[in-house]
Amino acid sequence: MTLEQLWQAALGEIELTLSKAHFHTWLKNTTIVAQENGVVLVSCPNGFTKEWLENKYNKLILHALRNVSEDTREVRYVIGKEAVLTPSPAARRRRELLVSPPMEEQLDFKELAVDPNTNLNPKYTFESFVVGSFNELAHAAAQAVLKNPGTTYNPLFVYGGVGLGKTHLLQATGNAVVSQHKSLAIKYVTADRLANEIVSSILGGSIDQLKNDYRRIDLLIVDDAQFLSGKEKVQEEVFHTFNVLYQKNKQIIFSSDRPPKAIPTLTERLRSRFEGGMVADISYPDFETRLAIVKAKAREKELALDAEAAAYIATHFQKNIRELEGALNRVASQVRVSRQSPTAAYVQKYLASIINEPRKNTSPKQVIKAVAEFYDLSERDLIERGRKKEIVHPRQIAMFLLREELKNSYPFIGMKLGGRDHTTVMHAYDKISKEFEENENLRREIHLIKERIYNV
Ligand code: ADP
Ligand code: MG
Repeated sequence: MTLEQLWQAALGEIELTLSKAHFHTWLKNTTIVAQENGVVLVSCPNGFTKEWLENKYNKLILHALRNVSEDTREVRYVIGKEAVLTPSPAARRRRELLVSPPMEEQLDFKELAVDPNTNLNPKYTFESFVVGSFNELAHAAAQAVLKNPGTTYNPLFVYGGVGLGKTHLLQATGNAVVSQHKSLAIKYVTADRLANEIVSSILGGSIDQLKNDYRRIDLLIVDDAQFLSGKEKVQEEVFHTFNVLYQKNKQIIFSSDRPPKAIPTLTERLRSRFEGGMVADISYPDFETRLAIVKAKAREKELALDAEAAAYIATHFQKNIRELEGALNRVASQVRVSRQSPTAAYVQKYLASIINEPRKNTSPKQVIKAVAEFYDLSERDLIERGRKKEIVHPRQIAMFLLREELKNSYPFIGMKLGGRDHTTVMHAYDKISKEFEENENLRREIHLIKERIYNV
C-alpha cells in the first residue's frame, strides 16, 4: 500500500465521523509524507491546522490509520513537507521519493466554493435532491416559496432529524431563488453563526449596522434554529428583525432538528412566529426512496454499484442520509484503491465495521459460543482436535470472525481455539475471506452468526 492509498483509506474512515465542513476545513490539504517504524507523518498546510489536528483529532486519526495499517503507533504532524523522522541522508532520500502529490489531486472532493455574499454552496441543488413521501411536503413548500418568495408560506419552518436533508433543501431553495430572482438579496446563515454575529456586534457597539444589514435582505435562511435555544438576547434581536422583514413581505426560512414547540427555552413570541407560517417536517425515507438516493449518489460519484450492492446499502442505512453518503464515499475510495468492482460482497465487507456500530462489546468467548450454537455443535467440538469436515468448517468460521470482528492476532486466535498454530489460523482466515467474496450462502451464514453475536 502506498502512502497515498493509506491516507485515502484512513480519510474515508475519518470522513464518517466528522461533519462535512470540519472534514474539509481540517483535512483537505493534508497528506502523509512518511511512514517509518509505526510512526506516520502527516503534513499540514499551516500551523493552525497542525495544532488543531494534534489537539482535537489525533485520536481519531490514529484510530483510522490503525484500522488500515495495524502497526501504526503514533502520528506526528508537520507543516508543509518539512518532514523529519530520521535525520539520516538515506532516509531523507527515501522520503523524497515517497512524497505524495497534493491532496486535491488524489481525491475528487468536487467541493465548490461557498458564495461569500449569500453563504450558499452551489453544490446543493434541487436536481440532486431526491423527493419521496418522507420529504415531499417540505419540498413542495420550498418550491412554493421559490415561485412566490415572501407571499405564500412565510415563514417556512422545516424540521427533521440529523442528516435528513434540511440544509440541502434550504440551500437548494436559496440557490434556485438566486438564479430565478436575480435582483433579490439572499442570505443563508446558521443560527449559531447568527447568534455569534449578534453577540459580537452588541459587544462591539455595531448592532445597528448589523440590524440594517439583515433588514435589507429579501430572503433570509436561518439553518438549525434550535441553536437559538437559551439565548434570550439573541432571540429578541431575531424577533425584531423577523417582524421587520415579515412586514415588508420578505421571505424567511428556518430549519430545526425539532418542531418549534419542542425547542427548549424559546421565548413564546418567537415560537409563535415560527409556527405562524408553514411548518413542514422531514421524516425518514422508506426503502424505495433510499434506493433511489443510493443510485443517484452512486451515479454522481461514478460508482458502478450493481443492484444487489445498492439494495444492501439502502437496507443498512435507514436513519441518516449523511451516513448513507459516507458509506458510499467509503466504498468509492476503496474501489479507487483496490480497482475491484463493488459487488454486494465487496460492499458488505467494507461496510461491515460501520454497519455494526456502535459495536456492542463482544468477546472471543461470545464469538465461539455463537458459532457453535449456529452449527449445532458444542464449544468443546470447536476447540478440540477433531478434523471432521462438519467441525473444520465452523472452526474456520470462528477464526475468521475473531479476526474480523475483534481484530484478534493470529497467535491469540490459535490459542483460543485449542492451541493451534498461527499459520493454521492465517490459512483459515484467507480461505474464508475468499469464499466470502464468492459464495452468497456463506455470506448469509456469517450474517446470521453475527446477528447472534451482537443479538440484533
Ligand atoms: P441535515 O441538514 O438535515 O442534517 P443535510 O442537508 O446536511 O442534512 O443532508 C446530509 C447529506 O445528505 C447531504 O450530503 C445531502 O446532500 C444529502 N441528502 C439529504 N437529503 C437528500 C435527498 N433528499 N436527496 C439527495 N441527497 C440528500
Ligand atoms: Mg443541516
